[in-house]
Amino acid sequence: TRQSHDGGVANRVRVTVRLRPRNAEELESDRDFADCVELQPELKRLKLRKNNWDCETYQFDEILTDTASQKRVYEVVAKPVVESVLEGYNGTVMAYGQTGTGKTFTLGKLGDEDTADRGIMVRALEDILAVINPVHDTVTVSYLQLYMESVQDLLSPEKDNIAIQEDPKTGDVSVPGATQIQVTDHQSFCNLLDVGEANRFAANTKLNTESSRSHAILLVQVKKAVRNKEVVVPPENGNGGSHSVKGMRAPTIRKSKLLIVDLAGSERVDKSGSEGHTLEEAKSINLSLTALGKCINALAENSPHVPIRDSKLTRLLRDSFGGTARTSLIVTIGPSPRHRGETTSTIMFGQRAM
Ligand code: ADP
Ligand code: MG
Repeated sequence: TRQSHDGGVANRVRVTVRLRPRNAEELESDRDFADCVELQPELKRLKLRKNNWDCETYQFDEILTDTASQKRVYEVVAKPVVESVLEGYNGTVMAYGQTGTGKTFTLGKLGDEDTADRGIMVRALEDILAVINPVHDTVTVSYLQLYMESVQDLLSPEKDNIAIQEDPKTGDVSVPGATQIQVTDHQSFCNLLDVGEANRFAANTKLNTESSRSHAILLVQVKKAVRNKEVVVPPENGNGGSHSVKGMRAPTIRKSKLLIVDLAGSERVDKSGSEGHTLEEAKSINLSLTALGKCINALAENSPHVPIRDSKLTRLLRDSFGGTARTSLIVTIGPSPRHRGETTSTIMFGQRAM
């Protein structure tokens, strides 16, 4: 479905589940256990084992097993969104799941040693840079962290609490205070991601928190010069004659953006045992993830009220979520039955979009 912003059906969120392979510890300690999920990728179904005899079946748009390559993950989850962005629509790719299940591996992996490991961010930029015209088009990148309802600039760490602006007429969202860097090739983009990652680590060390407590948001803006058939340059006033440019096609600049969001860990933060700063932190993470869940739910139900203003995260997503924008959610889970509770709530979050 793709209809105009004024009424009609908005694009719902497409949801893919990805299972992380067992890690060394799980291979060792959980050797005698069955995985807590059983995947049926050809049926796009997943069975969640509740105990030895009960299981629940869930349907998704796509299921990626623990052997899915990074290339396949990109093609299923992000490529349609990237193509749509190149056609002039906004789009969002986001990863949701418990810490340690592969969100950053899926989105942010650079693949320095092995290009097969490259994650969605690197592959998306590769695809975008491959088709744009380096003379007429521009691709700029901002890299943000959202922590406790405050937007930080991962490319200029001294900038803190950056404002999110919304154009009341067009509904366009922007973060004008954030550093925007033009990207022209693979290497310069990877350098930016490196800088962002280092700044994220430094900022979180200073704040004495973990990166799993914040959202990392890569904002890619594409400005493409397009030959628009509708736009006709009017003839010069006065001496029409042979110099008339009537009927000539003028290039117009078409703007679109892609957001790639590495969400904070979805695990329940224990409020009872935490105090002060940590309790505030727990509340604010739950606030933005809860707000996101409500928006996803509202889109799925085609509800006229999408509560996008409830958090900074959803305000940032406002023009890149639903409507004509394409939104893809990858839900990451681990195989261990020890995390059955967290895995269940992650699956339920994804189900709300269906
Ligand atoms: P998260 O960002 O959700 O906390 P990470 O992406 O950091 O999780 O992944 C946790 C660990 O598991 C990392 O060491 C990562 O390299 C590894 N990992 C995650 N997904 C995969 C995968 N599909 N294949 C191999 N290793 C993976
Ligand atoms: Mg991570």
